[in-house]
Amino acid sequence: MTEFGFIDSIRRAFGSLPDNGFEGIGDDCAVYPVGGGESLLFTSDMLNENVHFLRSAASAAEIGAKSLSVNVSDIAAMGGRPIATMLSLGLTEDAVGEWAEEFMRGYRDASERCGAMLIGGDTTISESGITISVTAIGRCADGNIKRRSDASVGDIVFVNGMLGASAAGLKDILSGHTDTANARVHRNPVPQTEQGLWLGGQPCVHAMMDISDGVASDLLHIMKASGVGASVDTERIPTEVSVEEAVCGGEDYKLLFTADPLSAADLERRYRERFGEDIYRIGRITGPDRSGIVWLDNGREVSPDWHGFSHF
Ligand code: ADP
Ligand code: MG
Repeated sequence: MTEFGFIDSIRRAFGSLPDNGFEGIGDDCAVYPVGGGESLLFTSDMLNENVHFLRSAASAAEIGAKSLSVNVSDIAAMGGRPIATMLSLGLTEDAVGEWAEEFMRGYRDASERCGAMLIGGDTTISESGITISVTAIGRCADGNIKRRSDASVGDIVFVNGMLGASAAGLKDILSGHTDTANARVHRNPVPQTEQGLWLGGQPCVHAMMDISDGVASDLLHIMKASGVGASVDTERIPTEVSVEEAVCGGEDYKLLFTADPLSAADLERRYRERFGEDIYRIGRITGPDRSGIVWLDNGREVSPDWHGFSHF
């Protein structure tokens, strides 16, 4: 079974239970309308030692900041603002003390940067490997929520930053080169907090999500949720590494979104004015006649065997 097959089976198993007002499993966050035109957003992500991080290759403070940042990324991906987190730690004996204190320093600094308060959690001992589980809570104006299911045929597909550096950095780390520029990118993901909030406020932006598994996997989620197809112009992928590494590697934590083609040029101009950076057109949303992503190389269809990252 694949990771996403398993999640689908969970969703089906709970489909007949009352939703209690929640829009649940399937998007970057669950959504709960609280009245007054606002909703709360909930998301949870886990980091396991030797799966998501190596203690030998990242400082405790970096792991602390990353644990917060990857969760806040999912709030940004909905167009919301992070307000609070809950942190549960399973610490090994040798991590109690100095490691845990350094971890919390990184977690606190990253919390301060994005304006999220730590409101609770749990602390236990782990027999093998450190486990870190974070739940982040955000809020969003109802009209600004960007779902994976809102892409329209004809939309332009955008990403808001360079892709692949994190994957290249992971490769460096695994081959023992822990201090390359890309390795530092991998260890220090930057959640697109202000960018997500701003894009949330743009009615011409339709679907949005964060890129955690690579465009080759993440764009499929928008296609499936929206019932559409998509083509990607591989020569337009913004990257300093190979296109394959840029679309298949995970953990970029940039935003992937679709926008009305008539507003696209204006959006590019206003985003540049606001952030002093570019957004990149990488493709188009098409009809649902093809199930996978259509990869184009300067307009000519190519058939690479590209898949995003999957845990299973
Ligand atoms: P993301 O990469 O945005 O964090 P995931 O790919 O981890 O999202 O998860 C996809 C969706 O499935 C999300 O809505 C998430 O909340 C949900 N999900 C993942 N694992 C579980 C689980 N064990 N139980 C319930 N929902 C889950
Ligand atoms: Mg996400």
